[in-house]
Amino acid sequence: MKYNLSGAISEIIPTKTLTDKFIEIKSKVFVVDSNLYELHKELVLQLVGDNPMYLLIATEQNKTLNEAEMIFQFLMLNKVNRSSVIIGIGGGITTDITAYAASVFKRGCRLQLVPTTFLAMIDAAIGGKTGVNFQSIKNAIGTFYPAEKVYINTGFMRTLSKKELRSGWAECIKTALIGKTGLFQTIKQSYSAITEEIILETIDQKMRICEGDLQDTGFRRKLNMGHTFAHITETATNNELSHGEAVALGISAALELSRRRKMISESEYNKMHLLVEPLLIDIELLPQHKHQIASRLSEILAHDKKNSNHVNMILFDGFCSTKVVEIEDTDEVRDVLLHGVRN
Ligand code: NAD
Repeated sequence: MKYNLSGAISEIIPTKTLTDKFIEIKSKVFVVDSNLYELHKELVLQLVGDNPMYLLIATEQNKTLNEAEMIFQFLMLNKVNRSSVIIGIGGGITTDITAYAASVFKRGCRLQLVPTTFLAMIDAAIGGKTGVNFQSIKNAIGTFYPAEKVYINTGFMRTLSKKELRSGWAECIKTALIGKTGLFQTIKQSYSAITEEIILETIDQKMRICEGDLQDTGFRRKLNMGHTFAHITETATNNELSHGEAVALGISAALELSRRRKMISESEYNKMHLLVEPLLIDIELLPQHKHQIASRLSEILAHDKKNSNHVNMILFDGFCSTKVVEIEDTDEVRDVLLHGVRN
């Protein structure tokens, strides 16, 4: 599947075997997630061969300019130039920082990615956003730089934890709810299993959105559905809930607010909420979480507003149809966040 992202062609290649994919490339270096390396050592060593490899400790604390600088030193030491290929293998942290480094080193080197988490396959490694965290703001520094090739090998998923799978599902379901394509039905039919069909359809839907708006100035924003509330929940609870859990709650809250505002009918709400419900089963918003959200909501919204003049949220105005709405700290928003999420 090939996509045109503002003139850059990005090819998504599903594959059962990776070992033959990089052989032809003369000059290449690898940036590999160190956890992934331990879990899939034999395969990684086969892929890397005797080419240089940088092992990355994939944590949010490490997704920084300092770590990017270490990668630049590695690239410099190994005489990487603009025709060399930088290959990132790992989850979203690895693909984000590798892509960032590739986009700025020597003003842009060739980039290929092998995402190894569910979330990175359907979201982080595709669509061209790169980034590192700065002064505790996630992805505050970054570029738009689509990888020329992204290899999708679902074999990596067998070692993912339930928590990581849940994160991927939350983004996958978000993508299914923001467009009238067959993805909603595909997921509904085989919910308990992550199939290659679900992964490829999710990628296709996201890439079609990105094709029309690489730089995120218009309708790509609908990919943020569920994320305004998720951000509030994560910040207020000091990340006690995982990102996937917060996104699942955020999607549910966006549906609830749309229902209360009569932007969607009861039957549209029920049909869409059905897809989110399995994600909510094990998530518990404890009384102390609710207390933290209630006491910090105004402060978080005011802070976000200061940064971007307004706080936008993606709501629904029909079945799998979205609308951008500006939100304020009102009783209605407060109530949906604290009590409106069905779980
Ligand atoms: P991650 O990269 O932290 O990976 C999660 C954990 O799984 C890590 O501990 C990692 O070492 C491990 N791991 C990786 N592959 C594995 C495998 N096959 N088996 C077992 N463990 C494995 O997290 P993620 O959820 O993949 O990505 C989250 C990151 O992606 C965030 O930094 C987020 O900002 C970014 N992101 C970027 C975009 C984008 O458009 N660029 C979109 C969504 C998310």
